[in-house]
Amino acid sequence: MKIAIASGKGGTGKTTIAINLACSIARTGQAVQYLDCDVEEPNGHIFLQPEINQTQSVNISVPQVDIDKCNGCGKCGQLCQYSAIICLKDKALVFDQLCHSCGGCMRVCPTGAIEEIPREVGFTDFGLSNNVKFGQGRLKIGDIHSVSVIKAVKDKAFNEGVVIIDAPPGTSCPVIEAVKATDFVLLVTEPTPFGLNDLKLAVEMVRVLKIPFAVAVNRSEPDEQMINQYCRDENIDIIFELPDDRKIAEAYSVGKMIVDVLPKYDKGFASLYENLLKVLKG
Ligand code: SF4
Ligand code: SF4
Repeated sequence: MKIAIASGKGGTGKTTIAINLACSIARTGQAVQYLDCDVEEPNGHIFLQPEINQTQSVNISVPQVDIDKCNGCGKCGQLCQYSAIICLKDKALVFDQLCHSCGGCMRVCPTGAIEEIPREVGFTDFGLSNNVKFGQGRLKIGDIHSVSVIKAVKDKAFNEGVVIIDAPPGTSCPVIEAVKATDFVLLVTEPTPFGLNDLKLAVEMVRVLKIPFAVAVNRSEPDEQMINQYCRDENIDIIFELPDDRKIAEAYSVGKMIVDVLPKYDKGFASLYENLLKVLKG
């Protein structure tokens, strides 16, 4: 089963919930894998401290023009929707940072002047952290191809037990790639106007994708009404609340797992998984 932990906004506690949920499931003896798909800034490793035993490059294919064969017809530039290849004077010029690897320019070139060459855009790391299998993607600094790196991480997900996917924040293409083809999405939010606004966007996204989902509220307060009211109106289950507790923030600030240093929350994370299964079955 693949569970994506997502949020419409950064800094809501997505990683906190993802890593503690993964550890909590592992403690029940189930096989679990945590995949950090927040590839622009993966930070799950700070808490899980995995031993990495496999690192691989992620490459995309970009065009390379053989100037001797190019007749300057401009067909490649007319086709490219990203202005990643243009014809200047009578020769084609490639801006490979902008290329989305569709291969279209190569197909329309009448002289066979274009060939594809690999370009490294990031890395995947896989390893182990106690009983949690660990994976993460790292986008190269300055690159924009986070979707390719996320895809590479997800392609290596194991096919047994539970896979927890820590998605990037927002609702744009990288998030869609991270949550796509998962069985369940847990949307993490916080009881603030910004949290509510971005939760609404995230709900729209998962509804379009038709993936079962529920909400987790981080830094929740006892009489909070904003998120509760919205979820009631929209018939959305809130299946987990993590209180606004200074001790949680202190643990986070020194890279500690809540389930390790604050055992009173261990039961809550275990029941999060049970609640999630109930929503999924229901
Ligand atoms: S492969 Fe596609 S995106 Fe890249 S330069 Fe060619 S047409 Fe443009
Ligand atoms: S389509 Fe081929 S021949 Fe025409 S400009 Fe582009 S690279 Fe040159």
